[in-house]
Parts: sequence; structure tokens; C-alpha cells
Amino acid sequence: MYPEEFEYYDPETIEDAIETLETHSDREVTPIAGGHSLLPTMKSGLASPDVVVDLAFIDDLHGISRDDGVTTIGSMTEYARVADDEQLWGENRLVAESTAAIGDIQVRNVGTVGGNLAHSDPAADLPAAALAADVTVHAHGPDGPRTIPIDDFFVAMFTTALEDGELLTSVDVPHLGDDDIGVYLKKASPSSGYAIVGVAAVLETDGETITNARVAANGAFGHAMRLSPVEEHLADTPLSRREVAAEAAALATDGVDAYQLMEDEQASADFRAHLLEVYVERAIEDAIDRVTD
Ligand SMILES: Cc1cc2nc3c(=O)[nH]c(=O)nc-3n(C[C@H](O)[C@H](O)[C@H](O)COP(=O)(O)OP(=O)(O)OC[C@H]3O[C@@H](n4cnc5c(N)ncnc54)[C@H](O)[C@@H]3O)c2cc1C
Repeated sequence: MYPEEFEYYDPETIEDAIETLETHSDREVTPIAGGHSLLPTMKSGLASPDVVVDLAFIDDLHGISRDDGVTTIGSMTEYARVADDEQLWGENRLVAESTAAIGDIQVRNVGTVGGNLAHSDPAADLPAAALAADVTVHAHGPDGPRTIPIDDFFVAMFTTALEDGELLTSVDVPHLGDDDIGVYLKKASPSSGYAIVGVAAVLETDGETITNARVAANGAFGHAMRLSPVEEHLADTPLSRREVAAEAAALATDGVDAYQLMEDEQASADFRAHLLEVYVERAIEDAIDRVTD
């Protein structure tokens, strides 16, 4: 199907993009990044924006830069560029690894970090990785720039803390310490590569003990979320206590109502709960292996 007709704008600065979004705010207006999620919804008629604001020509939204323990990724940076950034694998392996796990090479050449996070698709890979990596989101709207802690960012399926007319401009990825490790694992859909269930984990350690853990899941729930009971069980545990991975994984759906689990043609809620437990255990075991090897 062809999309409905729409007006198209291609601003070259963030300020022009915000102004264009604001000028047309009395109609349905949407930014477009890689278009890999938005265009199919427009072609199928699920979305029919009157105005589309293309972010592709805004140089300030593209690229990767570094400053004092933090790597900043512009929202329009394509996955392939992130996954190919060798320095990032040393600074925060989780973010590099989860980006490299997205779709296939065609998807990674076009999809963007900002589009992936702003879309809040439950099956997308980056939201869980961003939660576990504790990234900071930079946004810019009519009232100027602001930062959003990632724990406040994902609100519901396809809904984030971004307000109407606000753009995600970049994310700050903190570098992991020498004794810390991040892991991303997923059960991928055989057709699209999207996560049926994905688990991202960061273990902070002092070389002998897990001092802090951030563990998050996607695919399992309506939006990516942290698994607090798992994190709490891991904290202050010696790395040598290998059984902690299975114990923590058994808590993966603690406090989760059955209706919160996703159910679709790919996996029932029960099967997703099982996959979640299996992938939490594997991710923690992998993380412990990587620290202790
Ligand atoms: C065949 C296929 C396989 C895929 N497999 C995977 C996979 O394995 N893992 C995975 O994670 N994803 C996968 N995807 C999804 C793909 O990565 C999407 O492109 C991504 O989710 C959205 O990024 P985008 O840049 O294409 O955004 P778009 O489609 O352009 O935009 C998506 C939404 O975000 C909004 N938006 C975009 N950028 C911004 C911004 N900077 N500020 C505010 N709002 C913004 C748009 O208005 C729109 O509502 C797949 C897609 C396809 C087509």
C-alpha cells in the first residue's frame, strides 16, 4: 500500500526541526529517522501523519564523540556505525553488543539509535541495553534542551517520556569500570531478528564480589523494564557463587502479573516467562565468565 499524502520537511538544524514540529502542531506531525518502523505503519495505514519532519540532514544529530568517561551517540547515528566502533566495545561492550545484534545488515545500515529508543517497541533490542547500561537521554523541545534518566524514559508500549514536539538528540553511554561487565543476549525471531525475549545485564564488581547489578528485559513485557528482584539478589554476592545465576533467574517474573507478559503468535505468555528465566540465567553466567576469565 502507498501512504496517504503528507507534507515533507528536511531541516538542517535542531532548532529548525523543533520550529517545524511546533508550526504544524495543530495537525498530525511526526519526525522520521531511519523510517524502518514509521514507514511500514504509514504504508499499512496505521499511521497517516499530515506532516513528516526528516531528521536525516541535521549534522548535529549524527556521530559518536567522547568526553571523560562518557561516549555520546547522536540520535541519528545508524546501528552499523555504533556496532563498528571498536573503541565502544572496550568502553561499554553491552551497548556495542546489543546494537550489533539488531536485525540484519540492511536494518543496521538504516535504523538509528534515537529511533529505536523513541519508538519504545517492546521487541526492540536497545531499550533493555540502555536501561542496564544506565544511559542518559538528551532531548530538545520548544522549551529548550533537557536530560531524561533512562529509568524514567520508557512509559508504555510505543510511548516514552518525550513530549509532543520534542526530539531525542543524543544518549550518553557511561564507560564501564575495569572490573565491570555488560552482556546482551536474546532469543531472536527467526524471521525479523526482533527479540522474542532479550536480556541485558551489567555487573559491577570489585574483582571478587558483585557490588551492584542492573538487569533489564525486552520482548517479555509491554515495554523494556528492569528486573529489580533479580538485581537485588545479585548484589553483594561473591563471583565464585556460580549458583547465584540460577537463583536470580528464578526471580525474573517476581512481582509481575501474568497479564503483563506479552503473548502473540511467536510465543505464549508462559513460554515467554520460561525464556526470560533461561536468558537471565545465561546472561548472568556469561557476565560472570567474562569477569573471571
Ligand atoms: C526487517 C526489520 C527487522 C528489524 N529487526 C530489529 C531487531 O532485531 N531489533 C531491533 O531493535 N529493531 C529491529 N527493527 C526495527 C528497526 O531497528 C527500526 O528502524 C527502529 O526500531 C526504529 O528506528 P528508525 O530510525 O527506523 O526510526 P523511525 O522508523 O524513523 O521512527 C520510529 C518512531 O520514533 C520516532 N522518532 C525517531 N527518531 C526520533 C527522535 N530523534 N526523536 C523523537 N522521535 C523520534 C518517529 O517519529 C517514529 O514514531 C527491525 C526493522 C525491520 C524493518
